[in-house]
Amino acid sequence: MEETKILLSEKEIPTQWYNIQADLPKPLPATLHPITLQPCGPDDLAPIFPMALIVQEVSQERWIDIPEPVREVYKLWRPTPLYRARRWEEALDTPAHIYYKHEGVSPPGSHKPNTAVAQAFYNKEEGQTRLTTETGAGQWGSALSFACNLFDLECKVYMVRVSYDQKPFRKSMMQAWGAEIVPSPSPDTNYGRQLLAENPECTGSLGIAISEAVEDAVTHDGTKYSLGSVVNHVLMHQTVVGLEAKKQFEMAGEYPDVMIGCIGGGSNYAGFALPFVRDKIVEGRDIRFIAVEPIACPSVTKGPYAYDWGDTAKTGPVVKMHTLGHNFVPPPIHAGGLRYHGMAPIICHLYQLGIIEAVALHQNPVFAAAVSFASAEGIIPAPEPAHAIKVAMDEALKCKETGEEKVIAFNLSGHGHFDMGAYDQYFAGVLPDYEYPEAKVQEALKELPEVGD
Ligand SMILES: *Cc1c(COP(=O)(O)O)cnc(C)c1O
Repeated sequence: MEETKILLSEKEIPTQWYNIQADLPKPLPATLHPITLQPCGPDDLAPIFPMALIVQEVSQERWIDIPEPVREVYKLWRPTPLYRARRWEEALDTPAHIYYKHEGVSPPGSHKPNTAVAQAFYNKEEGQTRLTTETGAGQWGSALSFACNLFDLECKVYMVRVSYDQKPFRKSMMQAWGAEIVPSPSPDTNYGRQLLAENPECTGSLGIAISEAVEDAVTHDGTKYSLGSVVNHVLMHQTVVGLEAKKQFEMAGEYPDVMIGCIGGGSNYAGFALPFVRDKIVEGRDIRFIAVEPIACPSVTKGPYAYDWGDTAKTGPVVKMHTLGHNFVPPPIHAGGLRYHGMAPIICHLYQLGIIEAVALHQNPVFAAAVSFASAEGIIPAPEPAHAIKVAMDEALKCKETGEEKVIAFNLSGHGHFDMGAYDQYFAGVLPDYEYPEAKVQEALKELPEVGD
C-alpha cells in the first residue's frame, strides 16, 4: 500500500536553519532607521530585539545551528507530517500528485511556534524576563504565549480590538498559557491613549498594535519585542518546514513541480519554499513558486515596491517591500493572518527577481476550495492556507485537462478550528468579496518615506 502520511522520526528534526541570504543572486536592500532613514546598525535594533536575533537578521551564513533546547521543544509536534492528498486527488479526478505539509498539528495550531520558540529561547538566554507583541487573528499571540510559558517569560499581547471582540477563544488560549492580553488600541501606552482620545471606538489594526508593543518594550526594563513574520530571522526559523519537506519528498521518491503557499507577512510560505528556492537558484531546478494573497489586501500584486515603515506610528525599522502603506486599515475579511499592509522583504526581493509568482484571490472561491479539501481529507483548514488550497485545486484541475502528472505541493499553515464563524458566514452566503480599491493604493503612495534608491 502506498503511504498517505510521510513521517520522519524526532531524530530527523533539522539541526540547522537555512539562511537564503547566503544564496541570493543579489543582496537584500538595507533596513533603514525609522527616523534618520539611514541604514540600521545593530545598536539601532538593540532596544527591541535580542542580539542573537539581530545577528541572524543580517547574517550571510548559509546554515545556522538550531539550539538544542529549541529542538527539544520542537519535539512536542515536529517533525510534522507531509501528506499525499490521495482522496482529494480522487475527488478532483486529477492525474496530479498533491502533497501538503501539515503545520496545523502544533499546540497553538499553526506554523507560528517554529519561530516563537526560538525567539523566546534567545530572549531568555540574554536575560530578558518579558516579551511584548501584537496579534491580529490571535495565531501569533497564542504561539508566543505558548513559547514564553515554556521558557518562563512573561508575555504581553496587544490584540487588534476587532479580533479581541470577535475571537474570545484565542484570548482564552493565550490566558491558559499565562499571557496578559489587552485590546489594541489600549490605555496601556501613550500611542494607544492618544488614539483612544481621538476615537474611543477605534477597532485597531496590526500596524497600531505593533506600535503599542514596541513602545511597551522600549519603556520597560527586561522587556523586548517579538515579531511573528516579515523579518529575515523569522523566515529563517520557519525553514524547518521546508527542510523536513525535502527529506519527506525524497522518501516519497518525488520532487515538487509547483509549490504554493499563502502570504500574510510571508513567513510560512518562505519556510516551506526557501530550501527549494535554493535548488532553483543554485542547481537551476525547474519549480514554479506561487504565493497567494487576498484581493482585499493585495500587498504584492497591487502595492508598490518601496521603502515603508512596518508600523503605523513609524517607530519600527523601514524596509523595502511591497506595501499598501503603513496607515492601511484592513477590510474585514476572514483570513486575519493575511491582513498586513506590507510583506517580507525576502519574498518581495524574490518576486522582483522573477523567482516566485504572486496571485490574489477573492474569499468565496477560497472557502469553496477549503470545503472541497475538507470533505476529502477531513482536515478543516484555516482561511489563510485555504488561499493556497484554491490555487492547488486550480493547478490540479489544469492537469486533468492536460493529463500531466504534476507534483503539486502546498503548505497547510494551520487548522481552522477557531475560524468556524467564518465558515458559518460562507455557508450562509453572506461572506463579502471585497476588492481593495486602486485609489487607496495611490493614496498610500503619498505617505511613503522619501528615500533615494
Ligand atoms: C499568521 C498566519 C498566516 C500568515 O502569516 P505568514 O507570515 O504569511 O505565514 C498564515 N496562516 C496561518 C495559519 C497563520 O496563523
